[in-house]
Amino acid sequence: VFSSFEQARQHVLARNIRMIDLVFSDLWGRWHHVSIPASQFTEQLMRDGVGFDGSSVGLKSVKSGDMVLIPDLATGYHDPFWEEPTLGFICSAFEADTRTPFAADPRNIALRAEAHLKATGIADESIWGPEYEFYVFDKVSYENGVNTASYRVDSREADWHSAEGGHGHLIPLHGGYHAMPPKDQLYNLRAEMCSELARMGVEVKYHHHEVGGPGQCEIETPLFPMLKAGDATQMVKYVAKMVAHRRGQTATFMPKPLYGEAGSGMHFHQLLMKAGRNLFFDPDGYGCLSQEAHWYIGGILAHGPALLALTNPSTNSYRRLVPGFEAPVSAFFSLGNRSAAIRVPKYADREETARFEFRPPDATCNVYLALAAQLLAGLDGIQKRLDPTALGFGPIDQNIFGWSEEQRRKIKSLPTSLTEACDALEGDLDFLLAGDVFDRLQLEDYLLQLRAREAAVRNRPHPYEMALYF
Ligand code: GLN
Ligand code: MG
Ligand code: MG
Ligand code: MG
Repeated sequence: VFSSFEQARQHVLARNIRMIDLVFSDLWGRWHHVSIPASQFTEQLMRDGVGFDGSSVGLKSVKSGDMVLIPDLATGYHDPFWEEPTLGFICSAFEADTRTPFAADPRNIALRAEAHLKATGIADESIWGPEYEFYVFDKVSYENGVNTASYRVDSREADWHSAEGGHGHLIPLHGGYHAMPPKDQLYNLRAEMCSELARMGVEVKYHHHEVGGPGQCEIETPLFPMLKAGDATQMVKYVAKMVAHRRGQTATFMPKPLYGEAGSGMHFHQLLMKAGRNLFFDPDGYGCLSQEAHWYIGGILAHGPALLALTNPSTNSYRRLVPGFEAPVSAFFSLGNRSAAIRVPKYADREETARFEFRPPDATCNVYLALAAQLLAGLDGIQKRLDPTALGFGPIDQNIFGWSEEQRRKIKSLPTSLTEACDALEGDLDFLLAGDVFDRLQLEDYLLQLRAREAAVRNRPHPYEMALYF
């Protein structure tokens, strides 16, 4: 973390840095990079930036595709995955001619969302804790252009009886929650990920094996302000993938890589801070949440279907949002209930911890867009005083899967497909335009791209269709 260019330059000299790696996010939240020799890391570069074609990464500009990247010095980190000593920086994109922030750059959208929050006077900043779930595979093969990720154990039923690999410590289906070694064979891998992250400036709260077994992992960081949470998310995904890669394994954040097994979510814990106080805390409120927190929840759930086009923007997202896997399927809030879209953790009963988590999102989202969109939905809720209970969003503290069909039909369900989410966003996007955080044309273009991806999946014969119809 550098506060001036001079400080960064001194560091480059002192540590004999050879390469400067500039990373930036495309529309889908994937990092791209361009690398420059350390000798070209100059004041001039900090002013002029490094050119790139924004239209090649899904980010259109009305003028042309020409953009420049300027490193955010506060994000500097040592990249441990290259042979030459490399200093990495997360960049924001600027217009090539005017050097003004490029409006469609995801990171700039997050910055505008935070600026909008301040401008409303409702709070000073928003604080976020995404949770990172992912699977680690030993083998990934491609057949007929289809990625058939094979599990740690290829056929679990068979291997459960005849454990290959010289031991019998296998985690059964759904049995991986906080599993202990020797069943948890990924402890070393996760520990290595966490150590690399710490060295790169991302603290870790904890890591553990997740329910999906064997192979599902989770890493959590502490809660951070919006931009840092977005940057940390990109770092966690990068480091998890690279450390697994270094060991000949593959980490994937895909929401539902395996039928019949737990999916991987990215729940977002969130709260607002005003004048140094947690605006969401009220010891007498439901779940120790304040009136503002309730309206904010009302906003998130009222805009929930539209929001999912940004927080769950893949066809695969909706294979995770099905009953039976601790993933949410309905739009209600609850204390502790894991089938709820919003869960208020029972430990969140003090000012330092008071918050809720929005559980639908997954890591196919562009984290910066997902953060900005959730904040805007919540703010709209506060501004319009959207009472979640009056709107029929609970709270519900029972297991709804024990309810009758008729009872359950009264609860609103979340979109069950990417198309439903796209339709919802098309009909409800004005809340995203507040403070010029998002732009209507940009959202329309985003929807076109989402629908094209949906069609590309839908138009392909599905492997399971062979079982049904061949
Ligand atoms: N994997 C679950 C999901 O898809 C969450 C499990 C959990 O963290 N309790 O959201
Ligand atoms: Mg967790
Ligand atoms: Mg989890
Ligand atoms: Mg959670």
